[in-house]
Amino acid sequence: MCTDKRVAIIGAGIAGLSCATALQKAGFAVTLFEKSRGVSGRLSTRVTDAWQCDHGAQYFTARDPLFDAEVQCWVAQDVARVWQPRLMVFDGKSLIPKVDDGKNTRYVGYPSNYTPAKWLAKTLNVVPESTVIGIHQQDAQWLVNVMEQGVYPESFDEVILAIPAPQAAQLLKHTSATLFSLCNAVEMRPCFALMLQFDQTIPCKFDGLFVQTGVLSWVARNSAKPGRQTHSNAEVWVLHAAAEWSATQVDADRDWVAQEMLSAFHQLLKLDTSVQASANALQAPQQFSLHRWLYADTANSITDVYHYDDSERIGICGDWMNGGKVQGAYLSGLHLAHALISAKASC
Ligand SMILES: Cc1cc2nc3c(=O)[nH]c(=O)nc-3n(C[C@H](O)[C@H](O)[C@H](O)COP(=O)(O)OP(=O)(O)OC[C@H]3O[C@@H](n4cnc5c(N)ncnc54)[C@H](O)[C@@H]3O)c2cc1C
Repeated sequence: MCTDKRVAIIGAGIAGLSCATALQKAGFAVTLFEKSRGVSGRLSTRVTDAWQCDHGAQYFTARDPLFDAEVQCWVAQDVARVWQPRLMVFDGKSLIPKVDDGKNTRYVGYPSNYTPAKWLAKTLNVVPESTVIGIHQQDAQWLVNVMEQGVYPESFDEVILAIPAPQAAQLLKHTSATLFSLCNAVEMRPCFALMLQFDQTIPCKFDGLFVQTGVLSWVARNSAKPGRQTHSNAEVWVLHAAAEWSATQVDADRDWVAQEMLSAFHQLLKLDTSVQASANALQAPQQFSLHRWLYADTANSITDVYHYDDSERIGICGDWMNGGKVQGAYLSGLHLAHALISAKASC
């Protein structure tokens, strides 16, 4: 087994973290570059002094045995728990209860959605606040150019890009032509997330609402997730705008976007009979915060799982190559790691 290979992984979302964990276990020396202050990417939580809110992925399901094994490990470590929300669907006319087939156990990070990622990162060498703006080869080694600090002092045998396709394409322009054209062909879509803090409980019948038409696609009572309870009756909600609407309004005035989303939420609440019966149900939020995810999901999803360019020694992984979602991201990173481990086993 090869134990001295140095690998740079760019992106400490779930794909990068699962890849790094498996490689490190197999004896590779891994350095993870992450542009944000913390790990977890789109499975994340906005934290303020007064409230916190999961503004990216809302929950995850585990249909694949490998991912299920990992999730059970997270549950055993108490960094994830089952979430059993009251779910409804807005079909364009009315609110109807969501019929579940019972196969979808929904998990959330506990007490925040970023907790599993933080737990994975505990034993890894993560370099935070480091935006990689270039990679280039020198003497058959990879050098990594970081915006905040210049060229990183260590060199690497392999580079793995665990970032959304358009961001990966930027870094691949002058390296692997195959991987560049693959990433360049992928269209990722934006999503606005509006986080709302209310002083009073909203008396509607749902904790999560799938919205099939209009401005919004998803509405959730964040405070209904395990460990998110705030003081007294205060509640935090999150609204996700529909992909098409987000794309159309991607550069629109942020206050206008927030008001449109809030107004769409109020229209939905008015359809709930419990809200209709309550005098002050349509309260204005005490605070709100809008986040724009530029690369939320993939329009033309591909299922290649991962790619590795052997001649250049560059790998790419991420949810966008494996059906989207947290499970896809985790498995994409894991399978790329397994491929590298078997390729190097004989070196
Ligand atoms: C609004 C929204 C709702 C969602 N809902 C769900 C859901 O309910 N269930 C579900 O399973 N999935 C959901 N998803 C999808 C899920 O969040 C993703 O599939 C998963 O988190 C992707 O993980 P990843 O590691 O592939 O990428 P990311 O999480 O995007 O990780 C990439 C990381 O790379 C970093 N990075 C990017 N460029 C650079 C650079 N140049 N240098 C250094 N670091 C860089 C980023 O900061 C980020 O941390 C949702 C996503 C969004 C945005």
